[in-house]
Amino acid sequence: MTTIALITGANKGIGFEVSRQLAKKGIQVLVGARSAEKGQEAVKRLQEEGASAEFLAIDVTSEASISQAAQEVAQQHSQLDILCNNAGINPEFSQQIFSSEGLSLELLKQIYDANVFGAFFVIKAFLPLLKKSASGRIVNTSSTMGSLNDQSNPESMYYGVNTLGYNASKTTLNALTVQFAKELSNTSVKINSACPGWVKTDLGSDQAPRTVEEGARIIVELATLPEDGPNGGFFDENGSVPW
Ligand code: NDP
Repeated sequence: MTTIALITGANKGIGFEVSRQLAKKGIQVLVGARSAEKGQEAVKRLQEEGASAEFLAIDVTSEASISQAAQEVAQQHSQLDILCNNAGINPEFSQQIFSSEGLSLELLKQIYDANVFGAFFVIKAFLPLLKKSASGRIVNTSSTMGSLNDQSNPESMYYGVNTLGYNASKTTLNALTVQFAKELSNTSVKINSACPGWVKTDLGSDQAPRTVEEGARIIVELATLPEDGPNGGFFDENGSVPW
């Protein structure tokens, strides 16, 4: 039976590379993107490399769009095996907002809409399909910047990066991982958080040291965990990340 994966925000950056690496394993990828043009362009690039890929319209800040996407997948496929909650934004970093003074409530809500509420509703909408899989896997693309341990530890390289809204949104995303993991503990579905490291993308900027290939690896690993793999953890390529 074909393994089917949905990756949100897959038209570029880490999401595109995760799609690529999963497709290389023979997995059929549903390339989630809010822009049909960008999504279809990404699908074309993947297909040129021999991937089994198709476009799925999904804007994670729109309940209607998420519901519609889940309905389409249910009509076309009997189950979903892998969900990578990858779509995310960090407008504070691009706008160089490093204190609460520059962060409007409106911007904070926008960050939560994409990084937290979006991830929550995507999981909720696709859970019935993931439960039909013999081994459903959910990976929330988080960040060590969401680790309360790292945010409060002056020794951490993340201590000085005070994008309040983004960091808090990833802390909350991690809380979703923990809560869903408990809810799913008696099912065949596993959920984990992944930190790709600081990766060169539009979000990560050119200053980032890591490539998308390196960043995608831990996400792909958690997306293809064996039966005895962890549930409800937070990992980067070196192992567990403290909450
Ligand atoms: P990019 O900016 O390159 O890609 C982000 C992707 O998310 C794009 O496809 C974008 O679509 C999509 N997206 C944004 N908002 C929405 C939305 N409302 N609905 C659907 N898709 C949306 O960033 P990265 O690849 O770097 O980031 C991917 C994930 O990795 C994010 O969750 C980020 O927080 C996380 N991460 C990144 C790190 C890094 O250093 N790069 C470090 C740690 C975590 P569009 O093109 O239409 O804008």
